[in-house]
This record gives sequence, C-alpha cells and structure tokens, in this order.
Amino acid sequence: MSTSEKLKKEVAARRDDLIALTQDLIRIPTLNPPGTNYREICDYLDHRLLRAGFHTELIRAEGAIGDSDAHPRWNIVARREGKTPGQCVHFNSHIDVVEVGHGWTTDPFGGEVKDGKIYGRGACDMKGGLAASIVAAEAFIDVCPDYAGAIEISGTADEESGGFGGVAYLAEKGYFSPERVQHVIIPEPLNKDRICLGHRGVWWAEIETKGEIAHGSMPFLGDCAVRHMGAVVAEMEESLFPALAQKRTDMPVVPEGAKQSTLNINSIHGGEPEQEEDYTGLPSACVPDRCRMVIDRRFLIEEDIGEVEQEVRDVLERVREARPGFEYDIHGIHSVEPTMTKRDAPVVGAVAEAVRDVFGREADYVVSPGTYDQKHIDRIGRLKNCIAYGPGVLDLAHKPDEYVGIDDMVESAQVMALALQDLLSA
Ligand SMILES: [Zn+2]
Repeated sequence: MSTSEKLKKEVAARRDDLIALTQDLIRIPTLNPPGTNYREICDYLDHRLLRAGFHTELIRAEGAIGDSDAHPRWNIVARREGKTPGQCVHFNSHIDVVEVGHGWTTDPFGGEVKDGKIYGRGACDMKGGLAASIVAAEAFIDVCPDYAGAIEISGTADEESGGFGGVAYLAEKGYFSPERVQHVIIPEPLNKDRICLGHRGVWWAEIETKGEIAHGSMPFLGDCAVRHMGAVVAEMEESLFPALAQKRTDMPVVPEGAKQSTLNINSIHGGEPEQEEDYTGLPSACVPDRCRMVIDRRFLIEEDIGEVEQEVRDVLERVREARPGFEYDIHGIHSVEPTMTKRDAPVVGAVAEAVRDVFGREADYVVSPGTYDQKHIDRIGRLKNCIAYGPGVLDLAHKPDEYVGIDDMVESAQVMALALQDLLSA
C-alpha cells in the first residue's frame, strides 16, 4: 500500500476519535465576547497534544485588548519536531465562538450527533476544523514517524473580535515569522474541496454631521444634523453605490455578490440617546445637533485604500457644496488590506494535490468576502504562504443549529494529512 493510501486509511480509522474530540471541544463554551474558558480549552488541547509528542506553550496575550484577569486571553502553540530539519507546517484554529442567539433545537454546547452531523456552537466555525487538523497530524505522525521539519498546531483567542488577543499577539511575538513557520493552513469552514487564498480589504469609518440644538417646536432656530446625514445617504445612493457596483475584481471571491466593492451602513445615530425599554416618559423636544454614521467598506485587491477613503470624502464634499450650513467630520476606525496568496505558493500546491487525491477532482479556489486571522499572519508575520482550508459550510457559521458533517471532517483531515506528507517528506 502506498503511503498516501495508508494515511487515508489511518485517518478514516480514527473517525470515532475525531467525533469525540469535536464533541469535547464544543462542550467547552468559549464564548466571545466576553472570552470565557480560554484557559480550560487550552488545558484540554495541551493534554491532548502532549500525548502526541508535541512540545506545548500556553501564552496569555497580556495587555492585548480584551485581556483581563476576569477573562484572560489564553492561546496554545504546540510544536513537534521531525527526525531531520526541514520546513514547518502550522495549523492555526481560533478557539472562540460567537454568542448562541435564538432558534436552537439542539443544545448549543451539547455536541449532539444526529444523521452524520455534530451540532453545537462552533461545530463548523471552527472546532470541527481544529479537531480535523489534530487528528490529521496524529495520524501522519504515526504513519510517517521519520518526517522532516516540524508540525505546529495552535489554538488562538478572539478571532471573532479581531484576533488581537490571539494571532495578532502571537505574530507580534514572532510565532509566525518566516524563519519559524513556512506554511500555514487555517481550518476555517470553507468546504472540504475549496482552497481559500485570502480575503477582501476592509475600511471602517465614522462620519459625523453637525447641527445646532434648539427647541423642537422651532426647528428653524436650530440646524438638524439628521437631515444633513439624510443628504449624505441620498448622495451615496445617487453616486457611490452605483460606482461601487461597477468595480469588479479578478479575485475569486465567493459568494458572487461579493465580487465587487461593497459598502454597508453599519449604524446611524442622531439626536437624543435611545432610552431603556422600561422608560415610560416622552422624548424631550430638541433639534439634533449631531448625527453619526458608521460605514463598513469592503474593498478589492485592485483598489488602493487611499482611493477608497477619498471616494467617501468626495461624497461629503459634493454634499457640502450643495447644502448650506453642512459641516462634517470623518475618521477611520479600522482597516485591513486585502490579501491573496499566489496559486503557485507551495501550501496551495500541496493542498490542491491532496484534494485531487481524496476527491478525484480539482479544488476550487476562493477568496473570502470578510477578513479572518490570515490578515495578521500576512501583515505582522510577513508570511505569504498561507491559506484557509477546512471542513464545514461557511453559511452555517454563527447560525442556530450550527453543525459540521462527520464525513466532511474525515475527508478534510485526510487532505490535511496528505498535505503534511507532501510538505514534510524526509
Ligand atoms: Zn471562524
């Protein structure tokens, strides 16, 4: 039997272990926010990976945003050296999950198995992927004990809230530097036969329009900031949204609607603060003197962030020219550059070949509409040889009755094991 046949068989034989591991991970509720049980899940992974011969480190992202004594940001990085020197393949999974929300028919932290699926918050995003990478590595170590190089597995905090207490912190400390790690696979739920090369960019900004407060019975004595903001939205509808729809990318972004520039108006608030639901009084009569809007602009690898910002400033300038008394402020809140790993990068080639072996067809190449931890590995770690590949359907992430398919996990673990064989063959 060839080594690749042995690897596939070995992974398939560990199906029950893979199920149990995924269930265990789901049963540790690592809700973010606020960031619960990070230490517990790291201890669990520590125990598991020590047993497989990994050297492990538990690292608290002290001082990172979100880190506190009540909710410390724990991460685990495990490394297992091969017999001879060589390259390092790193599997990075985030350990946090988003809030449960309403509408569940199963226990979100029960890990129930039904009809070939494991249910629970984080089943697909991404404890199923984490479990698959661990089982893939363990099977590979057993079948190919004399491999060259090193395998790393990390479980990191806070991806769902930007990754600053997780991958960003580790990247700052050099854990993703090209001298230490040469290949990164992030087992996010992108489907077992798709390779995700990167993501679009993002620019968050806050726009404020200014007015003048006055009694609401005599609005002519003041200046309504909400009406000014209305003019901004109208101008966006008129000129900006149609222009964005024209900007198409060559990045293979999925779904199709995200193959262009997009802008979401995240929130608008003007005038009096909203009162608590149990407040029974009336509003007071005032003309709003300021209105704020938060925008979430997603941009393409073909676009420059300076142009993206200028386009919105141009909208505001056009309104200012047309509207007496119009005053505004705009400032960026957060930005991430788009990133896309080249198709001829070694990690892409290895996973593509493994997909061909397991599924008998070519992998699809995709780019994610939103960002994920690859942004920190790219920008801080300076590591360009990074992809997302893992089991599960992205559409199920963050939804009620989230699940991961057991066959999908087994098959993607086979792909991961074959990729290890390709990249670490002695
Ligand atoms: Zn995720």
